[in-house]
Amino acid sequence: MVELPKVRLSELLRVKMSVREELASKLDRKERREALNDGHAHREPRPCGLTVHPGRGCTFACIYCYIEDMGVPRTPEPSRLSGLQLAYAIASNPYTLIGREGTFLAFGSVTEPFLPTVKERTLEYLGAVSRYLGNPTQFSTKAYLSEEDAERISSLDPSVSALVTIPALRWADRIEPKAPSPELRFKTLSNLLRRGIHASLFLRPLIPGVSEEDGPLILERAASLGARGVVLGALRVTRRILRELESVGLRDLEDRMIREPKSPTDQVPLATGDLKRMLSLRASSLGLKVFPSACSANVDAHNLGCHMCNMGPCNGPLPDYDPQEIEQALTELEIEARIIPRGGKILALVRGGSKRVRRVRHLVSTATKRMVTVRPVR
Ligand code: SF4
Repeated sequence: MVELPKVRLSELLRVKMSVREELASKLDRKERREALNDGHAHREPRPCGLTVHPGRGCTFACIYCYIEDMGVPRTPEPSRLSGLQLAYAIASNPYTLIGREGTFLAFGSVTEPFLPTVKERTLEYLGAVSRYLGNPTQFSTKAYLSEEDAERISSLDPSVSALVTIPALRWADRIEPKAPSPELRFKTLSNLLRRGIHASLFLRPLIPGVSEEDGPLILERAASLGARGVVLGALRVTRRILRELESVGLRDLEDRMIREPKSPTDQVPLATGDLKRMLSLRASSLGLKVFPSACSANVDAHNLGCHMCNMGPCNGPLPDYDPQEIEQALTELEIEARIIPRGGKILALVRGGSKRVRRVRHLVSTATKRMVTVRPVR
């Protein structure tokens, strides 16, 4: 049995403070203010971690993409913060922890991180995060990354988790008209793997009418290249996306919506459990690890264990913790809380408002890698 050192929240908070101070000393007042006004300094992490945005916008114009419905422009623009400022913003975020045991970071979300106009910013951010923070970091991409690109990425962060998105083969021209061809993306996968990067296939979104035939072929190709695993991700649609998919001949998708959309921009998942089961079995038979979520591949790449959500447990054992030590560490943040182990989970009773409740949930679950239920108390 693997013995892990006991995690200490007070130590993680101390590291965070000293990293933050070190970064602050390298920035002038204006740079610090810009960083603190940026979303990276305030945003709550999502289930897969804190999303890092090296830019906004994407020219690939995949017809299943939801960023247009979020008001993100198609013309990509790199983020204004420097790498140092980004690291300072993340270290200043009240919901994050820093270091290998810290918050998972996921590059992408509202842009393709390796578009020509965003790529240098992405590489700058990868380098700064790796050098100053050391958090488990992941990116997803549909771009073509050459051997030279892979070498640069590996020199900036050799343990980064890479996800290469390939959801279609025969349908690619119709649903991803401006993205690099699937063939070029397989090359990206191969180039990353040859540089020793933990690269996996992102078979997302699963699209009824596409994934039944293309999915197994994509898995076979990824397995033959030595991919570390696969993440199978569901499709979420707005009414607009549904119309786009119907316009290229994909029918009957509406019947799969798990509920009615509440507004024109409401993203509704499609029920694709049948596709997921079929492709999971196929992936396993090919020797690919099936990761239940993107963060699971990040955890695997960093040889961590996690049971922060009910899709886990993922990968290795969880760190031990001391409830009293966590309570004590929270008092340093002027948060009064009781930490109660409940089976493999944690119940936290917290005195204070909703921001404190959210803060405790993120800090305690990130440190202990367990599911945390927080109840406010008077
Ligand atoms: S348990 Fe697995 S899927 Fe859930 S947050 Fe952790 S790594 Fe992600």
